[in-house]
Amino acid sequence: MSVSEHLRPLHHILLMEFLKGSAEGFYKAAPDNEPYGNGPWPCINKLCRHYGKDGAEKISVSYLNGQTIGQFHCAECGMKYQRSRSWQTFEEYAGHAMKLDYGHLWYDKLRKCILEDKLYPSDVAKVMKSTKKTVATRAAEIGLDINVNSRTRIFDKKGERVSADEYYHEKVSEILRIHPELTAKELNELLPGTYAWFSKNDFQWLKERLVTDREKRYWAEWEQKQLENLKDAYSTIQKEGDPNRRVTIGWLCTVAGLRESEIKGRLHRFEDIRAFIGEVVESKEEWLERRFKVMAEKKKELGQEIVLADIRRGMRLKPNTYKKYALFIDDLLKELNG
Ligand SMILES: [Zn+2]
Repeated sequence: MSVSEHLRPLHHILLMEFLKGSAEGFYKAAPDNEPYGNGPWPCINKLCRHYGKDGAEKISVSYLNGQTIGQFHCAECGMKYQRSRSWQTFEEYAGHAMKLDYGHLWYDKLRKCILEDKLYPSDVAKVMKSTKKTVATRAAEIGLDINVNSRTRIFDKKGERVSADEYYHEKVSEILRIHPELTAKELNELLPGTYAWFSKNDFQWLKERLVTDREKRYWAEWEQKQLENLKDAYSTIQKEGDPNRRVTIGWLCTVAGLRESEIKGRLHRFEDIRAFIGEVVESKEEWLERRFKVMAEKKKELGQEIVLADIRRGMRLKPNTYKKYALFIDDLLKELNG
């Protein structure tokens, strides 16, 4: 083996060290341009025909505080955006990538919506495929008022001037408080024009609050069925139940085989059940009065008056009940003995 052959491994090591060092230097000087893959990158402007597909080119990729920041630009619509999480899929970053510039296409369309088409704010948002808040902010930036078209429709309400938007939302909320089960048809009879206004401006809001004819029929049938059920339960209680026990919604429901929440949670929409319950369910006062009367009858037959001690013995009320209903009990005793 010659001397030169012995030296070869050392040469290799030196060469590798040299290359490694220079490679590190190279990477530091010029960042890796690969984290966001190769172009074309998708445009994130929903109004652009390149949305989600292509159209964008890379402006730059840089490193800042451990983040890999990529900036992209769609030449066709002018949208410029920035991402910092290279691993995210389009669906993950599209909605909240930082928009450095919405671009001419976006602003032109916004101008047209407000100035030419004179759309209501909610329609502007729909056309722009964006939120009302975003379009309002962007419009303000270019000196436009998103509300300019809604303010042209003003209603008088108790001498106040309100926008159509406010007027219709308030009116419908008011009606719903009185008629929680409202169909579109019924709404239109109560307040003509409302349905049309909402279908143009804020249909989702209205849809969430109205019931369909089918739902309404379903619940109407449900109510009548359960009303019969509760009436049967009440007569069972009267025939077979403990007469000393207070009649409550809970007891009625148990006997009727219903969960209390099924009835209690829906009372506001069931007028007939509400009326029946109001009639037969006992308040604490009503219950005390019923029981005292029975006791007073018995004492009367013996020629005696009913006194508090009888009640204590006969009813075994909780001490708190005596405290809470002291005046009521006192008055009731006087009345029964009088
Ligand atoms: Zn674009």
